[in-house]
Amino acid sequence: MRFASIGSGSEGNGTLVEHEQCRLLIDCGFSAREAVRRLINLDIEPESISAILVTHAHADHIKGVAILAEKFNIPVYMTWGTSVSNGHKKREVPAELINVISPHEMFSVQGIQVEPVAVPHDCREPTQFVFHQGEKKLGVLSDAGAITPHMERAYQGCDALLLECNHDLEMLRNGPYPPALQRRVSGDFGHLNNQQAAQFLAKTHWQGLQHVVMTHISQKNNHPELARDALVAAINCDADWIQAADQAEGLDWHEI
Ligand SMILES: [Zn+2]
Ligand SMILES: [Zn+2]
Repeated sequence: MRFASIGSGSEGNGTLVEHEQCRLLIDCGFSAREAVRRLINLDIEPESISAILVTHAHADHIKGVAILAEKFNIPVYMTWGTSVSNGHKKREVPAELINVISPHEMFSVQGIQVEPVAVPHDCREPTQFVFHQGEKKLGVLSDAGAITPHMERAYQGCDALLLECNHDLEMLRNGPYPPALQRRVSGDFGHLNNQQAAQFLAKTHWQGLQHVVMTHISQKNNHPELARDALVAAINCDADWIQAADQAEGLDWHEI
């Protein structure tokens, strides 16, 4: 199994997970045109994508999903709550392409088993995902305001972890966001800060963990170096080992 990012942050997110002929795109928060450009940069033809999985209906995750799905005839997997949330969508996914998933049940797409993980975030029925292929396990976690016991269990034993490090609490408090937005971001249904991410990593870290990638790093309320310092302190690893998926460049392919 291998993974890459077409970009990560509040301006748009998209993660690729691939095993043999199965290519999954998790979220598409870029315009379809921009997403295609970024996919081709990673040597992926959009028509070769097996399925799009949507974590939740915020624009930075769903913006390009409907057009991409329709244009290239790609099935879309999402919870019922995500499918009926239309506040941030300009277009609807064609009904025949929608596969409604349960946030509590595994499903499978062409040999990759997908485990949805319910997370606390301020939209309807959000899920994050753990991917299983043979013995390999890949965890993707962002857009969660808190870490629940259920989340800690679901992400144990991952070979690679893509983990939200959204904000540094001090930078958020002293930053440009108005107080109401600061409360939303740091609240129990907002985003993981560096310390929350570090605690989560400490609890899920094990000797088999090959890759840790910081995602959804705020450009206004965080620095990758602050996030990296927090994670390094939590598990006492080499700083170079922690990678970042950024907004402009995403992250190149990594194998597990
Ligand atoms: Zn987001
Ligand atoms: Zn969100």
